Amino acid sequence: MNELASESSAQTEQIWAGVDIGGSKILAVCVDENTNVLARAQSPSPAAHGATAILDAAAEAVRVVLARAGGTCRGSNFQGIGVGAAGVIDPEAGTVLAASGSFPGWTGTKITPELAARCDGLPVATDNDVNMLLLGEIFAGGDTPVRHALAVALGTGVGGALLVDGALLHGGGPGAGEIGHIGRFGDAPCTCGQIGHLESYASGRSIARRYTEGSGEQADAAEVAVRAGAGDPVAVRVFAEAGTHVGAAIADACGLLGIELAVLGGGVAGAWPLLEPAMKRSLAERPLLTGRSVEVRPARLGELGIAVGAALHARSKCS
Ligand SMILES: [Zn+2]
Repeated sequence: MNELASESSAQTEQIWAGVDIGGSKILAVCVDENTNVLARAQSPSPAAHGATAILDAAAEAVRVVLARAGGTCRGSNFQGIGVGAAGVIDPEAGTVLAASGSFPGWTGTKITPELAARCDGLPVATDNDVNMLLLGEIFAGGDTPVRHALAVALGTGVGGALLVDGALLHGGGPGAGEIGHIGRFGDAPCTCGQIGHLESYASGRSIARRYTEGSGEQADAAEVAVRAGAGDPVAVRVFAEAGTHVGAAIADACGLLGIELAVLGGGVAGAWPLLEPAMKRSLAERPLLTGRSVEVRPARLGELGIAVGAALHARSKCS
């Protein structure tokens, strides 16, 4: 994928927009048929101001990214909009079924029709943000796509997504793949009200909390990573615990579903060198019945991953 490829290609080829609706930013990209990113646009997320503000910002990001790619919502080559949104999403209706407290008023929002109404009635396809991250990682990289994969998003919380038999697994809820809320890895409290979940150890919020508990000092996850890199033993331990439990959760998912590839995304995964040794040890201690090994790697698309995956989702749903 060539980021920010020639703008002229938008004049003739079919193009799609993808929008990442998150708690800190709204990020839109425009891609062509070969998943070249023609343009991007980003603004701070108004998540704290409610659904209308979020939808308005998403629509504006689409208009800006299309203008930067040389198109408009009414352009004949513009095929549709994909959305990767925070929360548990009903992908058929494009509706938010549940959302965290950082998104007041987001639950119940009908993203697909509301965004279409703001964008000249264009087709819109909506799914969960980690699902879109996984789509982007599997189908935008140019590799032969694997058919069974897992994404673990280590952000403020821990999200997950599953690709099974070549298709995203939504489950009956939907809400399949919520790997952050499985396991009993210890007694640390989880945001969901239970204890010992993966999110209790491997989210940015948990890493910060556990560092403070161990050191008596306040630091966010990024600062804990810096301190771990400098040899702070508490910081090193907190990241090693996170890596150990991520490895165990991946091993469980692989044993259950025959996963071939696990991709780690989210801001905490940027501390890959701090997580990898313990994670690999944990995986090695839990060999699969088949004896095969599982590939685990950091996400490649960086901050564009969710938006690019959403654009690919639009390409499959809105053509
Ligand atoms: Zn939980």
